[in-house]
Amino acid sequence: MKPATITFSKLVDELQQHYGHPAPLPSTDPLELIIWENIAYLASDERRAAAFATLKSSIGTRPEQILAAKHSALAAIGKAGILPDISAEKLLAIAKIAYEEFDCDLRSVLKKPLPQAKKALKKFPSIGDPGAEKILLLTGSHPLMALDSNGLRVLCRVGFAEEQKNYSATYRLVQDAIRDQLPRDYDSLIRAHQLLRQHGQEFCKRSKPLCAECPVQDSCNYGRRS
Ligand code: SF4
Repeated sequence: MKPATITFSKLVDELQQHYGHPAPLPSTDPLELIIWENIAYLASDERRAAAFATLKSSIGTRPEQILAAKHSALAAIGKAGILPDISAEKLLAIAKIAYEEFDCDLRSVLKKPLPQAKKALKKFPSIGDPGAEKILLLTGSHPLMALDSNGLRVLCRVGFAEEQKNYSATYRLVQDAIRDQLPRDYDSLIRAHQLLRQHGQEFCKRSKPLCAECPVQDSCNYGRRS
């Protein structure tokens, strides 16, 4: 595989030139970020944000508030996605875990060493290693370069690593490739996370990426072949 012809920081800077500064985060509270991931299955960011705002204003995001809510009220919010009943069950499960296992205080857990903090977060629905790393980054708990599937795809196509059949193997290969180039501060890491995600959603889609109009085509191994 041909190595990337652009550095990680230059790629992120070029994406920011195109997209501008990323939108504010939906929350920096760990429990709210877990709720955000689960509130509406396969919903767009806009529909997810609307569902999250409704939950906050009509029920609340504290575990005891969610546990006291009717399943039907949670499912009505989950209609922003495609499986509202399952989303409601996940919200109840999140609240129960936070209440029973963490005494409603996830912040103290996140200050633990990385393996323990990740293990704690992975107790919640839909949170695997990448999701746990994202929450640790966005809460300012551990300075990791969390990547979602969009960001990972962009970095593979640009040339930082070759995509493997196994998602976890690809994730680790990309992380190994960029480790020495990463910024150290949270703001820069969060900015990179958001911009790579946005680029994967808007241009570097899984099928039929829009390479001809892509702002980083000249620096992309895949794009130069297109
Ligand atoms: S040129 Fe194509 S493959 Fe490369 S980053 Fe842009 S959209 Fe993705």
